[in-house]
Amino acid sequence: MYERHHYIAGKDVEGTSGRFGPIFNPSKGEQQGKVALASKAEVESAIAAAEAAFPAWSGTSVVKRARVLQNLVQILYREKDALAEALSSEHGKVFSDAQGDVQRGLEVAEFAQGIPHLLKGEYSDNVGGGIDMYSMRKPLGVVAGITPFNFPAMIPLWMSCMAIACGNTYVLKPSEKDPTVPLMFAACWKEAGLPDGVFNVINGDKEAVDTVCTDPRVKAVSFVGSTPIAQYVYATSTANGKRCQAMGGAKNHMVIMPDADLNQVADALIGAAYGSAGERCMAISVAVCVGDEVADKLVEMLKPRVEALKIGHSMDPEAEMGPLVTADHMAKVSGYLDLAEQEGATIVVDGRNFKNDQPGFENGYYLGGSLYDNVTPDMRTYKEEIFGPTLQIIRTKSFDEAAELPTVHEFGNGTTIFTRDGDTAREYANRVEVGMVGINVPIPVPLAFHTFGGWKSSAFGDINQHGMEGMRFYTKTKTVTSRWPTGIRSGAEFVIPTLNS
Ligand code: NAD
Repeated sequence: MYERHHYIAGKDVEGTSGRFGPIFNPSKGEQQGKVALASKAEVESAIAAAEAAFPAWSGTSVVKRARVLQNLVQILYREKDALAEALSSEHGKVFSDAQGDVQRGLEVAEFAQGIPHLLKGEYSDNVGGGIDMYSMRKPLGVVAGITPFNFPAMIPLWMSCMAIACGNTYVLKPSEKDPTVPLMFAACWKEAGLPDGVFNVINGDKEAVDTVCTDPRVKAVSFVGSTPIAQYVYATSTANGKRCQAMGGAKNHMVIMPDADLNQVADALIGAAYGSAGERCMAISVAVCVGDEVADKLVEMLKPRVEALKIGHSMDPEAEMGPLVTADHMAKVSGYLDLAEQEGATIVVDGRNFKNDQPGFENGYYLGGSLYDNVTPDMRTYKEEIFGPTLQIIRTKSFDEAAELPTVHEFGNGTTIFTRDGDTAREYANRVEVGMVGINVPIPVPLAFHTFGGWKSSAFGDINQHGMEGMRFYTKTKTVTSRWPTGIRSGAEFVIPTLNS
């Protein structure tokens, strides 16, 4: 049984709150460790460490900051498998997928290496008599990230690499369910040459989150997690004068047109719905078939594939899907499957009774893949996020009816369309009220140099994660107007300067 603590000012800090949370091994279905849950005072000490480190770090030349990022990238490549193994043991996603989790975060570190270019600013020469004007991007100060359990590597790296490259100092509050990888990142940053106090990790629950969102020294909060908490963090942080971006839950639709290659669609759906046991905010959870013929054929093709999913412990190299993160989450997903049945959906494959018989892993939090047909938009199981290995089929009569579903749905994170018709694809991408759209691509997660963010109840605040928006979120603009040479006398002016003056 191991313990995880906090990382403040370059040191492991045990914590004195006396409160701990359990860390489970979902593959085995047992507790493997415990994590210290910070008190308000402990969070305040991390914020103080970040505040103390800010003047020197923000004053460090941007090229030197970029070099720390370059070192970090090399270290993360070296440590990738160790990070992925720790991640898969606490999260339950299979090792190859855990490597992908680290890799997607690492790619943001690679992007952030280019920070001298990103922060170049703007310059206008001779905007008036002897007057030049330039804008520069300044860091905000102490900024914080609050992250979910489902991407314990990628999301902390999305946030911290951009924030730190821009010259801010950082307090990370990762998910208490899988705290090891963020603490391993602390060691990586230190080895990369980051001064103590610039990157701090506070483990905790609501008490830690509330402190981060209300402390006046924290200038910006980036959150990723479920919608109710995203709304709460957004409301609390902005009410306390902070900049905030808060990404929430999802219900992602794939529209399948009659001209689509159904073999390609079936493969895409199996990976996108059941990969990581459906615990991805960009997982496809609804397949919207245009026409009964498409639906009938697709269900026939999907059924044997869902039944044949290879489910095993997270380090089993044969496994395509591991367990769910906790027993509680497994029970929640199972409850939604019961509800779908009560609501009248047709069960094609029922994953509720799956048992893993791998020796030593019989008690893990496993569900089999589930497939439900004849789901309708009025069902609660359609309206709400399930976040498990289940796919719902909705039958529609036309493209217009299909495109309307993700448009009017409460969530608007990702969606995709499979078709061979460019006109239809283009129309869908333009029309649908969703932030990230795929065309014959099942999981359209933007790469590090573009930005990630949903619409509607999938994101609060108007600046996305990483890419150029990440740089904007973690900086504020200062514009300088200067007149050289001095000595030009025009007397006192009482009218606002305009281009005519
Ligand atoms: P969660 O909302 O339970 O937890 C997220 C963070 O909030 C954690 O750090 C947690 O400690 C904290 N938290 C939990 N309850 C809190 C409370 N009452 N008050 C204050 N803080 C609290 O989310 P999760 O279960 O860890 O992650 C899964 C969710 O995240 C899903 O809804 C998923 O769709 C979403 N998600 C969204 C995106 C996106 O970019 N839109 C990406 C990944 C995950």
